[in-house]
Order: sequence, then C-alpha cells, then structure tokens
Amino acid sequence: MNDWQHNYRLARINLKRGDSVAAMKHLQGAIDACPVTQRIELSRMFYYLGMVLVRLGKPPVALKSWASAFKLAKRGYGARMYGRFSNGYGMVKCQDSATDDFYAFRSVQTSRYLGSKESRCFQSGTERDMVFVLIADAFLRLRKSYPLASMGCKEKLALYRRAKISFPLVSRNDPQEAGVEGGICPSADVVAVDFVMNRVLDDDSRCSCGSGKPYRLCCGRLPSCFEIENGSF
Ligand SMILES: [Zn+2]
Repeated sequence: MNDWQHNYRLARINLKRGDSVAAMKHLQGAIDACPVTQRIELSRMFYYLGMVLVRLGKPPVALKSWASAFKLAKRGYGARMYGRFSNGYGMVKCQDSATDDFYAFRSVQTSRYLGSKESRCFQSGTERDMVFVLIADAFLRLRKSYPLASMGCKEKLALYRRAKISFPLVSRNDPQEAGVEGGICPSADVVAVDFVMNRVLDDDSRCSCGSGKPYRLCCGRLPSCFEIENGSF
C-alpha cells in the first residue's frame, strides 16, 4: 500500500474512533503524499479534513479545506459543504448578512494593515484589539453612508478596498510613502491576473483555476482574520 493510502486508512480509523487530532495528522500526511492526479481521492480527503477541523473548533480553516475539495471535484461532499457554509465573499456564512459584511470588511482591512508591517503579524493582543476597534468604527461609519443591504458583493468589495483607515502604527512605514524599496504591497491590493487568458480577473469573472466559480468565491475568497493571523492563507 502506498504511503498516502496507509495514512488515509489510519485517518478514517481515527475519525471513527473520534480522535480528531490523530485523524488530522494522518489526513495531512496523506494529502501531502498523494499524487495530484488523484483528484477525487484528494477531494475526499480535503472533505474529511474539513470535518475534523470543525470538530477541532476551526470552521474558517475547515472552509478553506472544503474550497480545496471543491476545486478538485465540482461535485461531491466537499463541494456541497463549501456551498452550504460559504457566503458571497467565500467566507464562513454568519447568521445575517450584516455580520457577513463586517467580517469581509475586517478581512480586507486586516490584510492591508498586516501586509504593510514588516513582521506581517500582530505583536500583541493589545495591538490586535486596537486595530479591530478602529476597523469596527470605520465599518459603522461606512454602513451609515452606503446602503450595503442593497449592494452586490462585487460592489461592496470595491468599496471596502477603497476605504482607507489611517492606522497609527502603519503610517510610519506605509508602502505608498516609503516608495518601492522598503514598501511591501498590501495583499488586499493585489490584482489577480489570468495569464492563460491574458486578462485581469475581476471578482465576478470565472476563476482561472477552472472551477467554474466566480473568482471571489474560489481562489480569490477572503480569508478569515483567524487565517490571516496564523499565516495559514
Ligand atoms: Zn479558483
């Protein structure tokens, strides 16, 4: 038996036993060792990995796993889970769309803030709390000025990206001010390009990975702050 098949078997045994930590370890081993040509099997493993991550209390990372499952196989359990639990931003669906909007806005702004820092991470919980308060304030102001409820996701994303918050710590090494040399391009401003079709990907255009989904729901989905902070995106 191949290494990945062995790991996959052990993962399923551990899943049945309810040992999520062991199951996750074996699934990751199996996914790493499995050849990319095994799309259906890989998709199924990503599906199981998502289930394990939910059990371990990490729904945002689980969604990422189901998004991978979906990319590998358009139909199947993973694709179904992704469709059920993701919202119009490709993030974990919340109880209401106002909360979805807030988390999407926070994701865009957190990526921009961390992307402009050299360390690319929060140095302390205090720093993160302060940044999150500033973002929440900015969101409340934005919500008063724009009818978010009647806007489409593409339109809202463009608005979130235009909204520049002046973060006290970032202004010191703002890439725009520092010039190209010391500047790191904030990830929120990255322009997606499909080199095969020779076009710039718009949030609503079909993703270049061939999944058939809009870019914003596929490879361009917004990461949760949990993923951004952990560098797992
Ligand atoms: Zn894609």
